[in-house]
Amino acid sequence: MGKPTGFKEYARQAVPYRPPLERIADYQEVTTQPAEEHLSVQGARCMDCGVPFCQSSTGCPIDNLIPEWNDLVYQGRWQDALARLHKTNNFPEFTGRVCPAPCEGSCVLGIIEPPVTIKNIESEIADRGFAEGWVEAQPPAERTGKKVAVVGSGPAGLAAAAQLNSVGHEVTVYERADRIGGLLMYGIPNMKLDKQVVQRRLDLLAAEGVKFVTGANVGENVDPQQLQAENDALVLATGATKPRDLPIPGRELDGVHFAMEFLTQNTKSLLDSNLQDGQYISAQDKRVIVIGGGDTGTDCIGTSVRHGCSNLVNFELLPQPPAERAADNPWPQWPRIFRVDYGHEEVQAKFGQDPREYCILSKEFLDDGQGRVAGIKTVNVAWNKDTDGRWQMSEVEGSEKTYEADLVLLAMGFLGPEHQVSDILGLEYDARSNYQAQHGQYTTNVPGVFAAGDCRRGQSLVVWAINEGRGVARAVDIYLMGQSSLPAPGVTMGLSMAGAV
Ligand SMILES: Cc1cc2nc3c(=O)[nH]c(=O)nc-3n(C[C@H](O)[C@H](O)[C@H](O)COP(=O)(O)OP(=O)(O)OC[C@H]3O[C@@H](n4cnc5c(N)ncnc54)[C@H](O)[C@@H]3O)c2cc1C
Ligand code: SF4
Repeated sequence: MGKPTGFKEYARQAVPYRPPLERIADYQEVTTQPAEEHLSVQGARCMDCGVPFCQSSTGCPIDNLIPEWNDLVYQGRWQDALARLHKTNNFPEFTGRVCPAPCEGSCVLGIIEPPVTIKNIESEIADRGFAEGWVEAQPPAERTGKKVAVVGSGPAGLAAAAQLNSVGHEVTVYERADRIGGLLMYGIPNMKLDKQVVQRRLDLLAAEGVKFVTGANVGENVDPQQLQAENDALVLATGATKPRDLPIPGRELDGVHFAMEFLTQNTKSLLDSNLQDGQYISAQDKRVIVIGGGDTGTDCIGTSVRHGCSNLVNFELLPQPPAERAADNPWPQWPRIFRVDYGHEEVQAKFGQDPREYCILSKEFLDDGQGRVAGIKTVNVAWNKDTDGRWQMSEVEGSEKTYEADLVLLAMGFLGPEHQVSDILGLEYDARSNYQAQHGQYTTNVPGVFAAGDCRRGQSLVVWAINEGRGVARAVDIYLMGQSSLPAPGVTMGLSMAGAV
């Protein structure tokens, strides 16, 4: 274990973010670089408890061997820690940056003290590994002669490709965008996950033998049945890309956009031209309203502030969460508590108040008379339990209000995958319109066609996409070879954190 008395001696100290007013002037990552000493002290807080909830069940969805690498970090054995980390996680440099860390919510120390800073330690092990040159391409020694096509290059598709390639299958990843990475590239903004960090891993995968094809919109300019015929297996990892709309009067007005239009265009323009080409929706000098919370809403807030918006309000339909765990949300569950994310902190620093307004229902987008949005009519809502104990929403009489706005961003979640590929292949769907396939098995109703990630489980998290990518790789390997040496990541459902995005 770390230091036997470490948790008594040292307080939790998360790696700080850069000051908000400094970081909103650029798109560099918000985090600072910690000193080595900082994290070995934090690693020493790990109690190596008998049953590490952090790495099982309600904790880490990929079963990261957390107490082991905490101890190795405390001992200064960073390379060994990296080897332990890569056993369960293909991309710790991504999860170390963007994972909401359900592991910390179930850390046993968290029962009585703030939990171990697991995510910070993971991030530093990965970054140190790259900086020291310990992360190298490891092409397979032998090829099996089997070919696998993966459609979609987000974390699920990439983890599947990495695992399948490692056991010798020839893997080609087809991506409709002009860059590989899925939401790692064109969803999560640069300030949370630097795109050079994504590219660094993609270069390694390519050096290991994974082939990437961009501009390949399967079902449009690439025939999925041809992919099926030319390959021994087909993995669909197309994500949950259908955004939830807000069909209220005025939805057609200029200036009302889905969050992903805003975020994707911003990152593309940033990477193509450092935002010089003007090919993005600008929030500069605009009064912005972001409808919906979660990671997507926060990323819209952080991006708008960097553009130089003149005001920012964030509508939440639900009430403000409590400061501490509620009685029906005990440890080791994911704590559903009030949090201040990077975007909220930035608005607070720039405009003097947190942008979030709770229990607000949007009723109508207002027209400026020239077809552009000028504001939103809202009403407050109340949440009460009915006689069956279910939460019911009702409008509060007399609470109608008008908010002025020049730009409205809809960040209300996603409704599953698009069906262009699946309809052609004849796939079945579950009740939520995801591709029908069981977690842990990943087989669809069409032999040789597998599904993993958000297109199978619905909108979720990077760490769950990695879990599914690793799992589908094992399922495909068994389908192709009759057996597999690839590990089976946990198939427990863990906690549903779908609302997080
Ligand atoms: C704005 C935003 C911020 C987020 N922030 C976080 C965060 O901080 N932490 C976290 O853990 N999770 C976050 N998430 C969620 C996380 O990004 C997703 O759960 C994860 O990326 C899902 O991985 P995936 O591989 O299943 O799909 P995706 O990452 O969505 O990748 C799917 C890919 O498939 C491609 N594709 C789709 N159809 C086709 C086709 N027909 N042909 C070719 N290619 C196709 C798409 O272009 C896309 O590149 C965020 C999500 C959003 C939208
Ligand atoms: S991947 Fe997420 S849950 Fe797992 S150890 Fe890292 S931060 Fe924790």
